[in-house]
Amino acid sequence: MASPKTVTIPESFNYIGIFLTFRCPYHCSYCINQYGSGIHLDYPEISGTDWVNFFRRLPVNDIPVTLQGGEPGLHPNFFSIVRDTLEFHAVDILTNLAFDLDRFIGEIDPARINRPAPYAPVRVSYHPEQFSLPVITKKILRLMNAGFRIGLYGVTHPDQLILMEEAEKTCKTLGIDFRLKPFLGRHHGELHGRYTHPDACDGKPPRACECATSELLAAPDGSIHRCHTFCYRHLQPIASIYDPQIALTDDFIPCNLFGQCNPCDIKVKNNRFQQFGHVATRIQNIHPL
Ligand code: SF4
Ligand code: SF4
Repeated sequence: MASPKTVTIPESFNYIGIFLTFRCPYHCSYCINQYGSGIHLDYPEISGTDWVNFFRRLPVNDIPVTLQGGEPGLHPNFFSIVRDTLEFHAVDILTNLAFDLDRFIGEIDPARINRPAPYAPVRVSYHPEQFSLPVITKKILRLMNAGFRIGLYGVTHPDQLILMEEAEKTCKTLGIDFRLKPFLGRHHGELHGRYTHPDACDGKPPRACECATSELLAAPDGSIHRCHTFCYRHLQPIASIYDPQIALTDDFIPCNLFGQCNPCDIKVKNNRFQQFGHVATRIQNIHPL
């Protein structure tokens, strides 16, 4: 029997981001999970069965469940979460491939996860501070040869632009789908990225505002947060995946943390159709506390 669809998501929502774990074997200096102050990523992790049961309750739509982290492949039930969810819902994975590739190839059917979206469902991040291009391209080619649609994403960090150019050329030669994502955050005091409200990330004393969001973001313990800042700071969630009924809203809700926002919530980016101009939040009525 089909599971009751007890989670409702507004039409305007564009993304379902599931942070399976915040653990990661790497320590990138620009990790967006660590942006700003007050970060507390020490969440307990729930079982794969609980995640899959929650995904069964999601409405039927074209928004994939995006498994991310940290490195989602470090969750002890990663492979069964991907395999079981693909039985009924599209899955995307944001990863650095720090997991058992043999197991992934053995347990996941590429025909199930591949789909005709304008981007690959498995999106690998390239972090030259942490691992070399030959190491990551070898892993990617292995998955491509096994039939998986997979892309490599570099970051336009000001210190790594030459490395990114080299990566682009190498990937072209190898037939790997390489794309660049804008670097978000501060470098030598300058905020990089394109934002609707650059002062939302200025780190100055917080101001009040009203903020409407368009993403379902769930932390490793199953708590659901209104934005990345609330998730990364372990602040009051708006719901839990264990709630029997979940109705998310895209209404404006007061927030007293304007100025402490995470760039991910304010940046102008592509939506899931790869159309540029989408922003996860709408913010209005900014005023002193
Ligand atoms: S690989 Fe990703 S999650 Fe891990 S430290 Fe680097 S940016 Fe952060
Ligand atoms: S104003 Fe910033 S911190 Fe507050 S909900 Fe919106 S994105 Fe999150």
